[in-house]
Amino acid sequence: MARVAVVTGGTRGIGRAIAEKLHRSDYRVAANFAGNEDAARRFTGETGIKSYRFDVSDYKSCEAGIKRVNEELGPVDILVNNAGITRDAVLHRMTPEQWGAVIATNLTSCFNMCRLVIDGMRERGFGRIVNIGSINGQAGQYGQVNYAAAKSGIHGFTKALAQEGAGKGITVNAVAPGYIDTDMVRAVPQAVLEKIVARIPTGRLGQAEEIARTVLFLVSDESGFITGSTLSVNGGQHMY
Ligand code: NDP
Repeated sequence: MARVAVVTGGTRGIGRAIAEKLHRSDYRVAANFAGNEDAARRFTGETGIKSYRFDVSDYKSCEAGIKRVNEELGPVDILVNNAGITRDAVLHRMTPEQWGAVIATNLTSCFNMCRLVIDGMRERGFGRIVNIGSINGQAGQYGQVNYAAAKSGIHGFTKALAQEGAGKGITVNAVAPGYIDTDMVRAVPQAVLEKIVARIPTGRLGQAEEIARTVLFLVSDESGFITGSTLSVNGGQHMY
């Protein structure tokens, strides 16, 4: 029986590439999204992958979402915590709402989703969790104290949960992308983007596909000895 994978934020950008890659590798995939119904409908129409609307920042919403996945696809073996947002501002202009939204969507979501699948993984003696961090969680970034704090938190979360899961066949790893060509990065002003690309040794943005293949590697049954690690996929921009 094919393993069941949930990819949060799986209908667009990096998450979409991950969902498609797992689907093509014969996993049974559930792609979550927040509210962009048009994108989700297009995604499901083009790929045949089911999409599930729920808010990863809200525990009750995740509970309802995971229940539906369990009923429709089966128990979750693989969880990719990919959903994320930015609400950039320098700290002296950042509002409590901007802080709270990013922490809830990018970090509390990892607790919500892991908490809801961990019991089943422990019972079945198998699990693969991959959390999508960021180069900006490793190195910091001007105007992103909320985002950098959330992503940096993901890296600590990953190492702690890896220790708890190791004896039960559950691996927990993080992937830290550099700048990847998605809607999130296309929202950055062109002049700023050019400066960013100039600092990337490979001289280009990454592709979502390049993150997807890293995730595929980490979630495979054969990767059971890799846990608590962070794989940086950033074109050499930051060597951590
Ligand atoms: P996109 O903005 O392209 O897509 C974000 C996805 O997350 C969408 O599917 C969106 O759903 C979903 N989402 C957002 N908020 C929620 C929520 N509360 N509940 C459920 N789903 C939600 O993002 P990217 O593909 O660029 O980024 C994906 C991940 O990679 C993020 O965690 C990001 O921080 C990280 N990352 C990205 C980098 C980049 O260069 N792009 C670099 C480093 C890290 P909907 O379509 O409904 O809005």
